[in-house]
Amino acid sequence: MYLYNSATRKKELFVPNHPDIVKMYTCGPTVYHFAHIGNLRSYIMEDILDRYLRYAGYNLKRVMNITDVGHLTSDADEGEDKMLKGAKREHKSVMEIAKFYTDAFFSDCAKLNIRTPDVVEPATNCIDEYIKIISKLMDTGYAYFAGGNVYFDTSKLERYFVFNDFNAEDLDVGVREGVDEDTNKRNRNDFVLWFTKSKFEDQALKWDSPWGVGYPGWHIECSGISMKHLGEDLDIHCGGIDNAFPHHTNEIAQSESYLGHKWCNYWMHVLHLNTNDGKMSKSKGEFLTVSLLEQKGYDPLAYRFFCLQSHYRKALVFSWENLDNAQLAYNKLIARIAALKPEDGQLDEAAFLSMKDKFCKALDSDLNTSLAVTALYDVLKVPTNDFTKLYAIADFDKVLSLGLIEKAAKKREELKKQAVVAGEFTIVSESGESDAEIEAKIRARQDAKKAKNFAEADRIRDELKAAGVELTDIPHGVKWKKG
Ligand code: AMP
Ligand code: ZN
Repeated sequence: MYLYNSATRKKELFVPNHPDIVKMYTCGPTVYHFAHIGNLRSYIMEDILDRYLRYAGYNLKRVMNITDVGHLTSDADEGEDKMLKGAKREHKSVMEIAKFYTDAFFSDCAKLNIRTPDVVEPATNCIDEYIKIISKLMDTGYAYFAGGNVYFDTSKLERYFVFNDFNAEDLDVGVREGVDEDTNKRNRNDFVLWFTKSKFEDQALKWDSPWGVGYPGWHIECSGISMKHLGEDLDIHCGGIDNAFPHHTNEIAQSESYLGHKWCNYWMHVLHLNTNDGKMSKSKGEFLTVSLLEQKGYDPLAYRFFCLQSHYRKALVFSWENLDNAQLAYNKLIARIAALKPEDGQLDEAAFLSMKDKFCKALDSDLNTSLAVTALYDVLKVPTNDFTKLYAIADFDKVLSLGLIEKAAKKREELKKQAVVAGEFTIVSESGESDAEIEAKIRARQDAKKAKNFAEADRIRDELKAAGVELTDIPHGVKWKKG
């Protein structure tokens, strides 16, 4: 398998460090708010890597942190504390916020068929690990104490910028966020390992340390948690592209200075999901969450499908229109799979292996999911029996995780007992009853959607809702029930 390694800026053959295990670390969410679908693009693509490594036979151990302390609004350790900000916003304690949004994150992941990593570790669980690392960095002169904080001294490194495909503007994180630079720093890129009470008097969570009562910086979390569970080396580290600098650069600086040797071999960064007017945000414009997609009638797996249609190393633009197209294509795909007959024939091994070969070649080439999706469509065209096609689809879906077999089986069942079939569009009621007036409105809503008149479609949905009728979009149609 070839993976693009952003540390070397080359596609490289993936060779694990150890014969019996692959060690992978993923930067987890900061649990001060819901994840937006941009964050979830990163987790979906990392999930594909996770699943494909297992599919290819590797014994994978994957660790992810939950950032519940230390992440400030600027990644350059300046600005407000994100968790504190969330707690104030909702008049709750920091731990209540952390619990609520951690649960919300995993609930979103479940809806998107994102596997939970083998180890999920909240940052607040590993204070001793950070203190151990920081103490050694202080002893060996890589860290210094100034103005109440412990900083990593980047001037002690021979080489600091590992992911140096960034321009000067990208490196100005602190300045860009509109916050003052920290005058305690000896060098512009020095970063905080440990904050003490001198900063954020109202900090909720604090621990004793050799440098005073305080809390860890954001970057040290990932080094500490990774070493706690995966030891002194790592095969793959992943995250969104904004994590590359300064977060991952700083992780490398402190980990390698602490260990005295190379830490991680492959770095995988997922490019951003953007909106038409730029960066996705939790505070400006529409806050795009999985729940919002569901409220608007989309299947979260149609969003997963949308993500898989493009390569993780290309920025992706989100628009409702793009998602409509993905939902439509996803529904059609399910309908085509539902039309296959499970009882048709026996496994045609030669045909299966040739389809699988194409699928694996796509993913072996730096996780080319759009080609893997093409390989999936090709299955529908191969001249073999339906049993073999369904067998191949089920096999590929171990990696793609689009719920294809389950959804197609459900669709087959629904088609059997469907109440009304009008052209390509299916309307079913949960109770099995039919109602001409409701069905007419649902069809009018569908027509409005087709004409991209979403305001009208939403109006009809609201009108039905007010009358006690709930709509759920299903593959190729709508299901309704009286509330
Ligand atoms: P956070 O919760 O802010 O720490 O971010 C969680 C993950 O989402 C990190 O890996 C980020 O790099 C990633 N991320 C943030 N914004 C986006 C975006 N617009 N598109 C894709 N990934 C993102
Ligand atoms: Zn991290």
